[in-house]
Amino acid sequence: MTGGPGSGPAHRFNDQLRQQYLDAVAEGMRLQDAAAHVGISLNIPQRHARTDNAFASALQQARAQGKKLRDDAKEHGEAHYNNQHCRHPKCVEAIRTGRAGRREREAEDQPAELHDIRPQIAPEPPFPLARAS
Ligand SMILES: [Zn+2]
Repeated sequence: MTGGPGSGPAHRFNDQLRQQYLDAVAEGMRLQDAAAHVGISLNIPQRHARTDNAFASALQQARAQGKKLRDDAKEHGEAHYNNQHCRHPKCVEAIRTGRAGRREREAEDQPAELHDIRPQIAPEPPFPLARAS
């Protein structure tokens, strides 16, 4: 950031814009999109938050709310569990079956067949792998 002439528009980030920005964030927009939405560059609210504690905490609240909205809008599944730390039964189930499926595919280097679920018993090696000498 060089701060040349005309690059200090922080004063244009007035109450109205702030509120619009916070609303946009609270509705689930990414910070970048919310800034574009109200016609400012992303660094303006970020810079503002560093000096204005009230705005910083309002922004934090808006982000939490927006994140929750985004998370709620997502489908439950493995990614939801991993990325959103969701512990909804659907997500837990997806993780369980996903991991089991992966284990099976790794154990046998063949396409897994759903009707052929065998117990995973590791065969004994025919010879001791390490001989004491
Ligand atoms: Zn979920």
